[in-house]
Amino acid sequence: RLKEGRALAQDVWSIFNVANLPAECINLGQGYMNFPPPQWVTEAAEEALKAVAPNHYSHPRGRIRLRQAIKGFYDSLFHRNLNVESEILVTSGANEGQYSVFTAFLEQGDEVIMFEPFFDQYLPSVTFNGGKPVYVPLHPPRNGQGRDSSNDWTIDFNELRRAITPRAKIIIVNTPHNPVGKVFRKDELEAIAALAEEFNLMVMSDEVYDCLVFDGKEHVRIANLPGMWDRTVTVGSAGKAFAATGWRVGWLIGPPSIIQPTLAATTRIVFCTNSPLQEAAAAGLEQARERKFFENQRDEYAERRAILTDAFDQLGMKYTLPEGSYFVLLDISNVQFPDDYPFPQSVLGRGRDFRYFKMACWFIALEVGVSSIPVSEFYCEEHANIGEAYGRFAFCKDVETLKKAAERLQGLK
Ligand code: GLN
Repeated sequence: RLKEGRALAQDVWSIFNVANLPAECINLGQGYMNFPPPQWVTEAAEEALKAVAPNHYSHPRGRIRLRQAIKGFYDSLFHRNLNVESEILVTSGANEGQYSVFTAFLEQGDEVIMFEPFFDQYLPSVTFNGGKPVYVPLHPPRNGQGRDSSNDWTIDFNELRRAITPRAKIIIVNTPHNPVGKVFRKDELEAIAALAEEFNLMVMSDEVYDCLVFDGKEHVRIANLPGMWDRTVTVGSAGKAFAATGWRVGWLIGPPSIIQPTLAATTRIVFCTNSPLQEAAAAGLEQARERKFFENQRDEYAERRAILTDAFDQLGMKYTLPEGSYFVLLDISNVQFPDDYPFPQSVLGRGRDFRYFKMACWFIALEVGVSSIPVSEFYCEEHANIGEAYGRFAFCKDVETLKKAAERLQGLK
């Protein structure tokens, strides 16, 4: 007998995969770059492959050079003297790190609260580990026309409070947020922190886009709020930081009470993360400040963002300008497609299955030549109507590609 629920359904990434789309379609769907990591980072990988030790198992905590580099980079950001033996854990991508936290902490039926739209991996990561997702929607801007800000997506704190039952154990915060691009304000994080304290919740703070915050906005770390260090684990990603999403190198930072049990889980799931690319990620973090790498990268991404948003402005379509991350949400509720359009079965799915906006994104990919991800996939069935009418367009692509996409998107007129 198969497990019940959505976890075994086909995932949106494999449906809207370049392999299923025409070769000429520009991929603004799954969020990965079409440019290489910086050369000084890949050179470190090449060096590591020539040596002996980094071709073998690393300590399950991660190679010491990377843990030290994480400490070197993050100490000042967390205002702490991070302990590389007990407060830092290298993981096989941010995703495996989060999975391991759930494996370590969830008992059957424990509840995990997540804001919708949620990065879709959270759901199966929770349910495969016996947990129960509890969904609290971010409320999209109402009656907005043209450009909204991701800050206009709001939390109803009464709704959040009502969602917390005695079985609630973890709340997931994701800032900057995928797919909305919202950078959670300090007052919002303070309110979440107060509820976490009141109901004794662990906070998993997915901050993999922390290096991509625009327009002088401040990235606030919930772990830094008073009293929150002891109940918060913060998630980071070399893939997002250094344009290397296929490396599967990430990290967790938190108190020993969270990191140690998670180490036990990750040791059993992957034993350790691939060693040579840990060396490369270490080189990246070691040199990032001196090279002003993240500042420059952020400015490049701001330019990329503008290419897409200028195109949406020209179209006069409603969209959300992200304060962080590399996604723009475009309202696609007016996109028309013929009833008899030849959609593949994976897009039609079974039953209701959020099919309308999946169909709209598929239609845009085939007829306009630009792929995106239907945001409906980031909602539970009951809440999908709250904010599903969007396609998520990723701008982690080079300028030329984005300009070509921008031109094609005028076909949505
Ligand atoms: N984080 C990336 C995105 O949101 C890809 C995630 C994935 O493929 N699982 O596009």
